[in-house]
Amino acid sequence: MALAQRDVDVAIIGAGTAGIAAARVLVRAGLSVLVLEASSRLGGRCFTDTITFNAPFDHGAHWLHAADKNPLVKFGHDLGFALYEDQRTLRLAAPDRLPSEEETTAYRNAVETGEASIIAAAERGDDGAAAASLPREPAEWRQAVSFRLGAFDIGRPLSEVSILDFGRVASGPDLFCRTGLGTLIATLGRGLPIAFNAAVSAITTGDEGVRIETAQGTLNARIAIVTVATDVIAKGMIAFTPALDAQQTAAFQTLKLSDFLHIGFEIASGVVDIADDTHVFSATRDERTFAALARSGGSNVWYVATGGIFARELEAAGKETAVSYARDWLISHFGSGIGPAIRRDAATLWGRNPYIGGAWSVAPPGQARARTALREWHAGRVRFAGEAGHDTMWGTVGGAWESGQEAARQALTIVRG
Ligand SMILES: Cc1cc2nc3c(=O)[nH]c(=O)nc-3n(C[C@H](O)[C@H](O)[C@H](O)COP(=O)(O)OP(=O)(O)OC[C@H]3O[C@@H](n4cnc5c(N)ncnc54)[C@H](O)[C@@H]3O)c2cc1C
Repeated sequence: MALAQRDVDVAIIGAGTAGIAAARVLVRAGLSVLVLEASSRLGGRCFTDTITFNAPFDHGAHWLHAADKNPLVKFGHDLGFALYEDQRTLRLAAPDRLPSEEETTAYRNAVETGEASIIAAAERGDDGAAAASLPREPAEWRQAVSFRLGAFDIGRPLSEVSILDFGRVASGPDLFCRTGLGTLIATLGRGLPIAFNAAVSAITTGDEGVRIETAQGTLNARIAIVTVATDVIAKGMIAFTPALDAQQTAAFQTLKLSDFLHIGFEIASGVVDIADDTHVFSATRDERTFAALARSGGSNVWYVATGGIFARELEAAGKETAVSYARDWLISHFGSGIGPAIRRDAATLWGRNPYIGGAWSVAPPGQARARTALREWHAGRVRFAGEAGHDTMWGTVGGAWESGQEAARQALTIVRG
């Protein structure tokens, strides 16, 4: 789509969850809208691949977290998607041995105690490093708990995570979407006015409106809503005139994306006796480890995931290395019989995608307030939105959705004068 001479009320940069949410509000209100998307598909960090395994494989978001507060749950039900609760079935595994039930209970208790102590520190207003508020005991579970709550849940070591940012995350039941969460987000985006392959490189704000330079020409708008990931702004991939103020610039630099990867395997059924959607965590003391979600939605697809420093190393090394480490982890935790049962694989290297750059935004110690700055208007006509701007659902599609809606409602008020 050539954009020359196009004028719209609101331009939305990014067709991920936040961009789709914003566009739906504005289109429904009767405004002229165009979503500008750098890639050739909808969904951004929430995308379901149905081809590789002939079964759904979510490259990004897979769970609807905090279902009782998550606005996407109602959309899912209304649109007839099969949403079902994650029972959080746990299998503790270990290299070359079978952990006992007592060990599994001890692990579960240690994780719950660790999480509760970070939340308690947040309630006291502490905004130091989350690692500092982990209890010292039981010492034998310290690394496993650090991996679980840090690298796995946040995509960062807990020493690099703000207690307040961790502690205020909305909790509640988690739901799976049987056809893949990306299929729900893509359905919500269908029919919206979107220009694909239209990477935005510059946004200039003047008295009359906003001029947006894209890979497909220039678009003029009264308002721009920018929903790209924080790393895209932090890397200067969009030039703003006037420049962003110091506070907003610092916020984008602070709320950098964490590292988290999904490695998918199709594993023939019957080789491992394990219930569908079982969470597998390792009892190892090595934080360079993985966790798995076995037989996703009853299919032969297993997610093997890791985050933090190890994920960054694997992303840098490339797909083959990431798959090979994940395969070795499966063999060491489930026995050599699983190796020949692996049919196909896939790996999501979000850090290598220039228009994303990582997994989700994380506030480092002392920086939880940075999220507020992302919700300020720039030059009166540019509003940022996306997961990073949500205080309690950052790092989630639910947070991205609410953030996009909020930005759109504010834009509506401005356009209507
Ligand atoms: C591996 C992984 C697992 C995850 N698991 C979960 C989970 O289970 N549950 C959950 O709720 N969340 C999860 N998340 C986080 C969730 O995916 C994100 O929080 C959410 O999708 C972010 O949506 P967004 O709209 O803010 O940003 P994005 O999805 O990043 O959308 C921004 C869009 O902007 C586009 N763009 C970037 N630069 C430009 C440019 N210059 N011009 C035009 N377009 C541009 C991008 O291509 C992208 O489509 C996960 C993320 C990852 C990576």
